[in-house]
Amino acid sequence: MKKSLVAVVNLNTLEVKIISSFKFKCIENCGRCCRELDIPLRDEDITRIEDLGYNAWEFVDYEKMFYRGDKFLGYALKKRPFDDACVFLDENEKCKIYPHRPRACRLYPFVLIKHGNTLEVYIKEDEFCPGINHPDGDEIDATFIREYFREILQEYRRSVRDIYL
Ligand code: SF4
Repeated sequence: MKKSLVAVVNLNTLEVKIISSFKFKCIENCGRCCRELDIPLRDEDITRIEDLGYNAWEFVDYEKMFYRGDKFLGYALKKRPFDDACVFLDENEKCKIYPHRPRACRLYPFVLIKHGNTLEVYIKEDEFCPGINHPDGDEIDATFIREYFREILQEYRRSVRDIYL
């Protein structure tokens, strides 16, 4: 999987430095990422989904683990044994838990990596995703980054402030 650095955000000033040029537009109901991806779950994702009434054994694949270097990132979201799609994909190709879906699903095809007070924004150049560099896609510029990741930027900025105060 090729992953390109798109931008670097200073979490103190919200200054965005664009590193490479991409466009993106999610094609509604495409759902290919729900079939093709292995999704890492954070503890918060598991708790949020359990709060909907599901048991962790129904949606956590404890045999699949994600690491970044030697850092354990989480277990995987379960796939269906008969077609390898996400267990939450319904018969109409829609996500059953869409407003509560894991963070990695919300972010896809982007990956965010925080180093101190900077945030690196990567894009996964997966061939199955028709939204990456779609001709009608939005240019990924500073405005796009600030809007698209608004909530997560706020969350990260709060944590940076907590660490540095
Ligand atoms: S594969 Fe890409 S275009 Fe399709 S739903 Fe997922 S993010 Fe959107």
